[in-house]
Amino acid sequence: MMRLSILMLLLLVSAPLLAGEVRVVTSFTIVADITREVGGERVAVTSLVGPDGDSHAFEPAPAHARKITEADLVVRNGLGFEGWMDRLLDVAGGSARVVTASRGVDAIDAGDHAHDHHHDDGHSHGDTDPHAWLDVARARTYVRNIRDGLKAVDPDHAETYAERADAYLDVLEALDDQIRETLAAVPRERRRILTSHAAFGYFEDAYGIEFLSPRGLSTEAEPSAAEVAELVREARAHRVAALLPDNLTDARLLHRIAEESDMTVGPTLYSDALSPEDGPAPTYTRMMEHNAGVIAEALEADP
Ligand SMILES: [Zn+2]
Repeated sequence: MMRLSILMLLLLVSAPLLAGEVRVVTSFTIVADITREVGGERVAVTSLVGPDGDSHAFEPAPAHARKITEADLVVRNGLGFEGWMDRLLDVAGGSARVVTASRGVDAIDAGDHAHDHHHDDGHSHGDTDPHAWLDVARARTYVRNIRDGLKAVDPDHAETYAERADAYLDVLEALDDQIRETLAAVPRERRRILTSHAAFGYFEDAYGIEFLSPRGLSTEAEPSAAEVAELVREARAHRVAALLPDNLTDARLLHRIAEESDMTVGPTLYSDALSPEDGPAPTYTRMMEHNAGVIAEALEADP
């Protein structure tokens, strides 16, 4: 009896120590969340760029390198999203396995769609659009790559990762259907949005909503009256139905455009980072639900 209760006590004490054994460092919050979904309690995930953070403009510090040195697994997006990552990995050294979450996705060019002015928005995205997670079907590839990375560094628990990944893949499949349903009611002629950051190319590709972003202006620059007038003219010419800012770009320009036109600025979309815990997009699935809901509501309403 005595021996049994000591054994039970030992089990209770040792169980929490097993959690978080695999140290994973991710570049940004979206792959951090996907990694937590697949890894469960086995993984301790740290994201270098935090909630609402801009991964394009991120400048790693020595503390970030130390996190990578100590990691078992590093997960990055790839497709040129984290221009700083290769150098950081070189500086950090260590023995972490590196997973590129987007490996194998059908990538699109940054300038692929007619109304995209990607190269001029102050970010250096390169030639490939890196924001592949904004299509849930492509994000399912992320899940598989992350699962395989976790299996490789923690093979004793490969079965756990496989099961958790399968369950999450089902969740994402349902989410993909749900987004299509949410957007189904949007009339064809109202499927065009002006946003502040050209991140939604994959969302456009997957869900048939077009996105324009302002041409020829860096995100920091204060636009002249003539530039704002040109943007208003362009928005009207392209029959933009809604102005929606995103969570990492200054929304002032959209507000200037709204002032000069008969439009209003709608709620914030989440593109390159999750919100903090108490925000509307603290997980990947909630982010995508939030975006679809905001878009549907903004486009369904009459101007
Ligand atoms: Zn971006």
